Amino acid sequence: MSRSVLVIGAGISGLISAIRARKLGNDVTVAFSGKGATSLSLGVVDVLGYVDRRAVRDPLKGIEELIKKKPRHVYSLVGVDNIKKSINFFKELTKEVELEYVGDLRKNIYIATQFGTIKPTCLALKEVYDARVDTWDGKKVSISGSIVRDYHPKFISDSLSFFLPKFGIDVRFVDENYADIVLRPLSQKKEESCVIPLLGDGEILRKKLFKYAQKIGVEFIKDTIKKGKIKGNEVKEVYGRKSYEADVYILASGDWIGGGLNAFKEPIFNLDMIKSNGKLVRKIPFPESGHKYSKIGVKVNESLNPFINGNEIVNLKVAGSIIGNYDYCTEKSGFGVCISTAYLAASL
Ligand SMILES: Cc1cc2nc3c(=O)[nH]c(=O)nc-3n(C[C@H](O)[C@H](O)[C@H](O)COP(=O)(O)OP(=O)(O)OC[C@H]3O[C@@H](n4cnc5c(N)ncnc54)[C@H](O)[C@@H]3O)c2cc1C
Repeated sequence: MSRSVLVIGAGISGLISAIRARKLGNDVTVAFSGKGATSLSLGVVDVLGYVDRRAVRDPLKGIEELIKKKPRHVYSLVGVDNIKKSINFFKELTKEVELEYVGDLRKNIYIATQFGTIKPTCLALKEVYDARVDTWDGKKVSISGSIVRDYHPKFISDSLSFFLPKFGIDVRFVDENYADIVLRPLSQKKEESCVIPLLGDGEILRKKLFKYAQKIGVEFIKDTIKKGKIKGNEVKEVYGRKSYEADVYILASGDWIGGGLNAFKEPIFNLDMIKSNGKLVRKIPFPESGHKYSKIGVKVNESLNPFINGNEIVNLKVAGSIIGNYDYCTEKSGFGVCISTAYLAASL
């Protein structure tokens, strides 16, 4: 049965929800205020890099372990089957938008970031995947390309010289003419060069998904949703500049960065939140155990319905980084959670 769906937000979670809901034959509108955190990301798909600070080699195995240990974690609610299906959906979808994402749920790779740090991830554009640091041992590497904002070749090679030995990878940094591997950012790509993702590669993905959604008939309206009207256990209407009515609403408005959370509250519906006690922020920027505030977010059930004063809201689903009880920064689970919750939220 075709239904009207209103998605709030056009980051990766909103876009994947909208595309999937539309592909299932629904009439879909997206109300959005801006680009969100997705456009700031590296554009690689982190599924699960760490469980309790321990590096995960096989993300699926890591998720199974996480589900046993943390039954309230968002992945425990979504379940392995939906995670697998959603990643396949993403891979097929990115082929349709002519982006070649490579990788599988059974293996994490390590990539060099534009800061010269190393991070685990699961799926990456083919060029990024092929340039993963796992394959560098014993090679002569050149970090090339011109200096731009957020990209400084010398800084990157200095930083990598510090981090690579910790992973047992022995590399010599040399001039481009003598190198086995030449890296420069995607946007400065030359023939046969590999890449370091440059801040903003997530924007390439966001734009392509946005255009694709428009092409298949999703309607986009630039409007910041301010309030929702709830009657009983249902959303009746939401309001921005205009008011919108739908059979089903999907809230994908992001966390603090995207604007979906505001002073530890969800501002549109005032949904029940997962809270954190004690000191919410620590003095160091990226502590291994994370900041407590990172896990704050909206509380949902296994169907991704939220609650108001303990009452489930039956025609509202929640997707992406606005959901509580996970910490993408320390787990490296950013896009993995967004894609899997968006897929499930749109399974109407
Ligand atoms: C610097 C940085 C780099 C990252 N790199 C990676 C990476 O490489 N790989 C990875 O897996 N994860 C990465 N992450 C995490 C990942 O980017 C986020 O978890 C993910 O993009 C969140 O997507 P989202 O759709 O939930 O929210 P967002 O992308 O923030 O989108 C929220 C959307 O909702 C809209 N919105 C908000 N409020 C309203 C409102 N009231 N009305 C209408 N619209 C509204 C916003 O304008 C936006 O369109 C990174 C994060 C950061 C900050």
